[in-house]
Amino acid sequence: MSEVKVHPVKTHIAKDALLDDAGYQALYQQSIDTPEAFWGEQGKIIDWIKPYTKVKNTSFEPGHISIKWYEDGTLNLSANCIDRHLATKADEVAIIWEGDSPDDDKKVTFRELHEQVCRFANVLKAQGVQKGDVVSIYMPMVVEAAVAMLACTRIGAVHSVVFGGFSPDALASRIVDSNAKVVITADEGLRGGRAVALKDNVDLALANPKVSSIEKVIVYRRTGGKINWQEGRDLWWHEATAQASTDCPPVEMNAEDPLFILYTSGSTGTPKGVLHSTGGYLVYAAMTFKYVFDYHDGDIYWCTADVGWITGHSYLLYGPLANGATTLLFEGVPNYPHTNRMSKIVDKHQVNILYTAPTAIRAFMAKGDEAVVDTSRASLRVLGSVGEPINPEAWEWYYRVIGDERCPIVDTWWQTETGGILITPLPGATDLKPGSATRPFFGVQPALVDGEGNQLPGATDGNLVLLDSWPGQMRTVYGDHERFEQTYFSTFPGTYFTGDGARRDEDGYFWITGRVDDVLNVSGHRMGTAEIESALVAHPKIAEAAVVGVPHEIKGQGIYAYVTLNAGEVPSAELHKEVKDWVRKEIGPIATPDIIHWAEGLPKTRSGKIMRRILRKIATGETDSLGDTSTLADPGVVERLIEERSRHA
Ligand code: ATP
Ligand code: MG
Repeated sequence: MSEVKVHPVKTHIAKDALLDDAGYQALYQQSIDTPEAFWGEQGKIIDWIKPYTKVKNTSFEPGHISIKWYEDGTLNLSANCIDRHLATKADEVAIIWEGDSPDDDKKVTFRELHEQVCRFANVLKAQGVQKGDVVSIYMPMVVEAAVAMLACTRIGAVHSVVFGGFSPDALASRIVDSNAKVVITADEGLRGGRAVALKDNVDLALANPKVSSIEKVIVYRRTGGKINWQEGRDLWWHEATAQASTDCPPVEMNAEDPLFILYTSGSTGTPKGVLHSTGGYLVYAAMTFKYVFDYHDGDIYWCTADVGWITGHSYLLYGPLANGATTLLFEGVPNYPHTNRMSKIVDKHQVNILYTAPTAIRAFMAKGDEAVVDTSRASLRVLGSVGEPINPEAWEWYYRVIGDERCPIVDTWWQTETGGILITPLPGATDLKPGSATRPFFGVQPALVDGEGNQLPGATDGNLVLLDSWPGQMRTVYGDHERFEQTYFSTFPGTYFTGDGARRDEDGYFWITGRVDDVLNVSGHRMGTAEIESALVAHPKIAEAAVVGVPHEIKGQGIYAYVTLNAGEVPSAELHKEVKDWVRKEIGPIATPDIIHWAEGLPKTRSGKIMRRILRKIATGETDSLGDTSTLADPGVVERLIEERSRHA
């Protein structure tokens, strides 16, 4: 394995950071030794209506699974994200909106956000939405998406945000599963210069005979495009809010009251309707935001995730707003109209903290330095990554090219289920190793176990589990508590099983090796997908790679590698040999791919993650049983791969 590079904490960052290494160590120890006292204190990061007297009441024991935090406290999320900043920050910017077109932007202050949220909360009430009702939100990335979410939380309605890129069928199944009463949408969305027919999709979804719970559709006018209208059911956002009062007192919610439902990305199977509750979630989102990004008052923060993903909930809106931060909400795609759009936006709004995903970084990297031409990015201080393992090569590129070797990168490991970040560096405290999510956040106890659930000590590989609860943990799979217990608590009893594999090194740093279901077993050697893929991506001509196991007569499993080349590179017999030799040299003969499949593109979830379970089916020729493909971003990619495979196999 090629040598691991260490990037020590930067002195200019450490100087003003909230925590240094000793600070991290001390707080971490406290959080494990005395969790009640620790979380009792940290809970004060948000405002409570009635303070809690009980902090932690949790058990992972089979038959007694129970997760409750701050259970007798009451609060309101929207009041924490908006009202409590009005005394000091009413005229400061809460949300910077950057439109799909570079000429389109606006700024919304906390006072304006308060007014809009109150108005819209009153609209929801007028439409009969009550505390506990589920509201589906199928919106483009406009300020009104944030307003709709915050308005739900203001009146205690449970929002279920469905990514605006999902099909009518995917929307319909999420509406049915969540039993939503109202859908909030827009006439059309705008992404990369193209209109997305959101209202038409809603009409199609609601025409599905299985959908019967929806009473009203509220439509925000974004483009003015032509849409169909159903009198009595559909109403315009602008008409409904025009008459609504700007006074809407926040509803007092119990800490354990449901806050939102959000479906997982569907990388490994049918999406799960993850239910989060109010108090613990907000404490955890607020606190992780502050420490992980080393947030300082006045920072401009940009998370590129869509509101349809957990990152868009916890770190685009709720974490930042609870801290009174200015958060940037971008409507478009990071490479439109040009590859340097992301960097342009950083300069335009003087962004200090940037949080994005490996899929975007790899796409930029494939285009050389086009991503930064004509930009300085001098405002950046901290960079973040989330969603998949970041290959060391992509990490170094992000660090060198986007961050000019000035900004630490926080590689944050977490899940929809965890509500917030669990394993991550802290900018002023953690020496960085590219490709490693490094160390646990406060209160988080990761462990590695073997197939029988025995804990493995020291530097080792294993199944990643969590030994105890943290406040942001999901409470159930909506409508299917049995699936909740089965999925997360039955594999290794007494622990929460993440589904991911990891390696812990001599320094106690964690390296996510990939999904446990994807682990390869070649001649008795177990290998995660991340390591082989990272070796491939480290080749100068390779942009992206995914490996899966296929049956092999001698080795048990052989390695089937899908490889996407950089723009302008073409496959050849020489390159084929070169790539195989490269992996042999980087990792060892055991990791040498048996088959290299030159792929134009890889199948990804709509949140941008590689779907290896589909690649496995293609590799083994089981293309009539691809499984749940509803969250696939581009079905055309799969068709092309199936066709190409006939030439490789
Ligand atoms: P599903 O659960 O429906 O199969 P999913 O797991 O992709 O989909 P998410 O909750 O969006 O749904 O993703 C969480 C997963 O993403 C983690 O379990 C992990 O595999 C991966 N992941 C997220 N962040 C990182 C990271 N920084 N490093 C490595 N892997 C990560
Ligand atoms: Mg998952």
